[in-house]
Amino acid sequence: MNETVKKLVQEYGSEIVENRRYLHAHPELSFHETETTRWIRNRLKKAGIPMLEGISGNSTVGYLKGSKPGPAIGLRADIDALGLVEENDLPYKSIFPGVMHGCGHDAHTAILMAAAELLARHQELIEGTVYFVFEQAEEFLPGGAIQLVKDGIMDKIDYMFAIHVNALSPIGTIDVHEGVRFAAVGTFDFKITGKGGHGGFPHDANNPLIPAGELISAIHLIPALKCDPLANCTVSVTYLHCGIEGVANVIPANVSMGGCVRVLDTNLRTFIMEEIERLGKTICAAHQCDISVSLVYGYPACVVHPICAAVMQEAARDMELEILDVPPSLGAEDFAYFSQEKPSGIGWFGMADPTKQHDPTPHHNPCFYLEDENGLPRALEYVLTVYLKALAAYK
Ligand SMILES: [Zn+2]
Ligand SMILES: [Zn+2]
Repeated sequence: MNETVKKLVQEYGSEIVENRRYLHAHPELSFHETETTRWIRNRLKKAGIPMLEGISGNSTVGYLKGSKPGPAIGLRADIDALGLVEENDLPYKSIFPGVMHGCGHDAHTAILMAAAELLARHQELIEGTVYFVFEQAEEFLPGGAIQLVKDGIMDKIDYMFAIHVNALSPIGTIDVHEGVRFAAVGTFDFKITGKGGHGGFPHDANNPLIPAGELISAIHLIPALKCDPLANCTVSVTYLHCGIEGVANVIPANVSMGGCVRVLDTNLRTFIMEEIERLGKTICAAHQCDISVSLVYGYPACVVHPICAAVMQEAARDMELEILDVPPSLGAEDFAYFSQEKPSGIGWFGMADPTKQHDPTPHHNPCFYLEDENGLPRALEYVLTVYLKALAAYK
């Protein structure tokens, strides 16, 4: 298998780097990926890869059916960029001010396109059906994955795989483990209304800052008092707006405040969100203030299925990648919606320069950088190896 895959990657050559750099120079924001989508669909058409009808927005799903029976395997790439001013001095730097591929989704798109084009040329390798899922808007709620699920792709797909490039860990490493890997997220927003008035006559007013102040403590105490101490969760009040700076003798009438919830268990998230709402209403009622609560449930927890983790780890060992021991984190990934439907696996594929000539930078940083010349062919090799291993495992 190793040799077959290596030959395919060689056959594709430097085009994967050229494609990634083209996409890097032409980033588009979530839900606005019209030119990227045009590029994807044109290339799929040229490669003779049919596309599913009824896919919403800028997402695209190509597919190829093999002549032998086998599982339906989905390979997913997100395609969107971020609102960020690129500070890299690179020949392929973003030409659109304020938009940048600062998370590596340009690399994901180029890798998946290379896998699709190679499998279109070598259809003898395909068993069952392979789906190439190009997903819009991973970075922006509600994300692109939930709509792909609503459009029915997970009724067709048995197993879903993805890699996310990792700009902080070197080429030759991967972080892929079974179980919960990323948090379920949510946000809350309160609009609290009291009664404005004169600071000298508080009894004629009703200061909404009083319940707001109590709510800051009460909400932060939810993980400590209401959740299993062994659960992984955090709640933060992150904004509070009221009154006018420097105007000391006016009691304001309104407060707006809100924050976020991050937890590794999707059910616990529901409990915490409901508890935040309950506290908001109860504490405001105690102070005779009105409150309107809005809760936004973001991505659920992202879970890697053991049978997908096994395939991805075996592929990593085959390529002699070092499997990093990384604990789950309270980041979020809308790949979670696929993992709720069918066994799914996602891994973080190292693409920092191992020689450290270019400093590793965090994702969403204006200097985000991938060592693409060496990293992309390795990532392509990995995705193809995962695909072939999955075929062998899920016969
Ligand atoms: Zn990102
Ligand atoms: Zn990302």
